[in-house]
Amino acid sequence: MGTFSGTEFRAIYDQHTYTHLKKITSPPPITDNEAIDAHIQALAVSRGYKLRSIATAPLTAVDNFTLQPQAAEAWQALKAGAAADSLELRLVAGYREFADQRALFLNSLANTGIDTATIPSGAADTQLGAILQTVSIPGYSKHHTGYTVDIGCGGYGTFVNSPCFGWLSADNYANAKKFGWIPSYPPDTSSQGPQPEPWEYVWVGTEALMREAP
Ligand SMILES: [Zn+2]
Repeated sequence: MGTFSGTEFRAIYDQHTYTHLKKITSPPPITDNEAIDAHIQALAVSRGYKLRSIATAPLTAVDNFTLQPQAAEAWQALKAGAAADSLELRLVAGYREFADQRALFLNSLANTGIDTATIPSGAADTQLGAILQTVSIPGYSKHHTGYTVDIGCGGYGTFVNSPCFGWLSADNYANAKKFGWIPSYPPDTSSQGPQPEPWEYVWVGTEALMREAP
C-alpha cells in the first residue's frame, strides 16, 4: 500500500473511475426559491464543494442503510477486521438521495434561525458558512454515490476520540486502506467543501491504493 497525504487521498478519489454512477449536471433544488438556492450553491462552491455523482444501479441493503454492492462488501470486511481487534464499527450513514441531503441541510438551516429571505443579500453568509462546515447541500454530497460511509464507534459519541478512529487512521490509515477505504475529507488539505470529517470514508478498492501517489 502506498502512503498518501491528504491532498493525495483527495486526488485518488477524484481520479477514481467508478461504475454505476451518473454525473450530476445541474444542482438539485434546496429551498423553493431560485435566488436563495443560487446564493447558497455559490457559497458552497467557493468552499470547494463540487457537484458529485448519483448511484444508478440497485444498491445493497446493509446495516439499515444501502450502499453500492462493492462498497457493501468492503464495509462488511472492514467491520469484521475491526471486530477481530475487539472494536465495534457502526454504519451511521450510507447512500443518500437528493431529498435526504436536502432535508438534512434544511434542518440545519431551520436550527440556525436564519431568515431565508435575507440569504440573497449575503447577510446570512457567516451562518451559512458555519452550516457548510459540516453539512452539504443536495447534489454536492459524496453520499449520493453509494460508495461513501459515515462510521460510528460502539459506545463512543465523538468519533475522532474513539479507539475505532485510532484503529482506522493509524499508520496512514493502514487498516482503512487494507479494505479499500480512504478518508473522504482528510486533514492537511484545504478547500474541500466541509471541514475534515474523521468519520467519513470512501471506497476506492485496494487496487487503486497499490499504485504510487497520483
Ligand atoms: Zn458523511
